[in-house]
Amino acid sequence: MNRLATALLAGVTLSFAFAGMAQAKDKVIGVSWSNFQEERWKTDEAAMKKAIEAAGDKYISADAQSSASKQLTDVESLISQGANALIILAQDASAIGPAVQKAVDEGIPVVGYDRLIDSKDAFYLTFDNVEVGRMQAREVFKVKPEGNYVFIKGNGADPNADFLFAGATEVLKDAIYSGKIKNVGEAYTDGWLPANAQKNMEQFLTANDNKVDAVVAANDGTAGGAIAALSAQGLAGSVPVSGQDADHAALNRVAQGTQTVSVWKDSRELGKTAAEIASQLADGKAMTDIANVKPFKSPSGTELTSLFLTPVPITKDNLNLVIDAGWISKEAACQGA
Ligand code: BGC
Repeated sequence: MNRLATALLAGVTLSFAFAGMAQAKDKVIGVSWSNFQEERWKTDEAAMKKAIEAAGDKYISADAQSSASKQLTDVESLISQGANALIILAQDASAIGPAVQKAVDEGIPVVGYDRLIDSKDAFYLTFDNVEVGRMQAREVFKVKPEGNYVFIKGNGADPNADFLFAGATEVLKDAIYSGKIKNVGEAYTDGWLPANAQKNMEQFLTANDNKVDAVVAANDGTAGGAIAALSAQGLAGSVPVSGQDADHAALNRVAQGTQTVSVWKDSRELGKTAAEIASQLADGKAMTDIANVKPFKSPSGTELTSLFLTPVPITKDNLNLVIDAGWISKEAACQGA
């Protein structure tokens, strides 16, 4: 082989080796969704898929359809399909443990997506959920600084439900201690299902002779359920209600005045960031070497590596933010308002 050919070959080999070390292409990123029926996850997915494919990698996924046990087999199947990294939106924070362990045993990195996975081996990528809870309570409190409050919480197996509630009660605690605000009902919403939220709200209305002055609902789906129950009693629009996710129907309710606030978590950003982090971890980068990470101590004391994005409250006064960001069209947001 002449010198030029040898040099060229060496160059090629070197760049392959470099690609292998730094930025392997053709990786498989496996994404396990918990409850894909909800509007927001489709936006997360589109952003994730776009970023994964733009990097030359392959997106594979499964939907657990709100079943913690299906999610375990989903993750196994993603692993057997050759996933080099996993992104997991956990249906149940504890039940997902064995799936994470299986990935760890096979050397496959895991990104806990949006919801905490209580393992030091899972990267924790989310929005600041305690802050989301504060934002929900703040906006409702501005409208009703006293009276009977009801808390329509999220799914009990999702740590976000308690983070949100912690943020909300932090904002309201002085008014609760002083007796200005009374907690007249609080319940988790099984599976985050709007129908369950509606049932809980109906019971709280009945138990309090309809004397409910404010509703702190954990997300837009549960807000929709609570508002349906209020509406049946002729109370929609006069009782402030919170939510989150900037679902299109919820933004329209904000414009119409039946929902006070939604919290916008730009899931296009979260999805893209997850794809980037999963790719870097699959390339062998340490979690702590990912840009902008912070240590996070879980409620049970596990030390995790985390990255939190910032949520934004959306009320009637700043609806233009989501319109200007291309999240929703003006027509869809303001329809009938
Ligand atoms: C997410 C919310 C979502 C809810 C139900 C929570 O963990 O943070 O954005 O609405 O799950 O899917």
